[in-house]
Amino acid sequence: MDFKTKIREILDFPTPGVQFKDITTLLKDGEAYHQAIDELVKYASDKKVDAIVGPEARGFVIGAPLAYALGVGFIPVRKPGKLPAETVEVVYDLEYRQDRLSIHRDAIRPGSRILIADDLLATGGTVKATVDLIKQLNGQVVGTAFLIELLYLNGRDQLENIDIFSLIQY
Ligand code: IMP
Repeated sequence: MDFKTKIREILDFPTPGVQFKDITTLLKDGEAYHQAIDELVKYASDKKVDAIVGPEARGFVIGAPLAYALGVGFIPVRKPGKLPAETVEVVYDLEYRQDRLSIHRDAIRPGSRILIADDLLATGGTVKATVDLIKQLNGQVVGTAFLIELLYLNGRDQLENIDIFSLIQY
């Protein structure tokens, strides 16, 4: 399948000059969504993954079906104040401000093999922050899987020595 034809591109969203990649057009197409997740499953299947970690909110839409297909657990990473039990947090830089992400302190068994899933790799700030959270809990990041990678933003540079799979590249 030519997955790129399923992505809608929207100019000047959320700010002027940005060409936003809208994955909702892929998600609403049952065959495309199923096949896309199957491609991520193929990538992940030989990695002996113990759990999938996905950052909110689109990381849930990609990570949860991947975890289900692999028969492993799903661990959410969320904005602070959303997770009910004790959390650890990371602060990371965005273009003009800082943001925070959190994970339950007891979410990851030390040494376990974690795969991060999200919809899109742009500057790599989100996935780098997610890696930092997993490292704080002594998990081992064995791979990262994305539907889309924006090659021109060099997100890969944030993920030295970490394996990266993306289904669609721009
Ligand atoms: P990064 O932290 O710069 O790599 O941005 C990645 C995060 O921003 C992901 O969690 C995406 O959901 C979101 N994101 C950035 N650009 C786009 C886009 O064009 N379409 C959809 N999501 C995007």
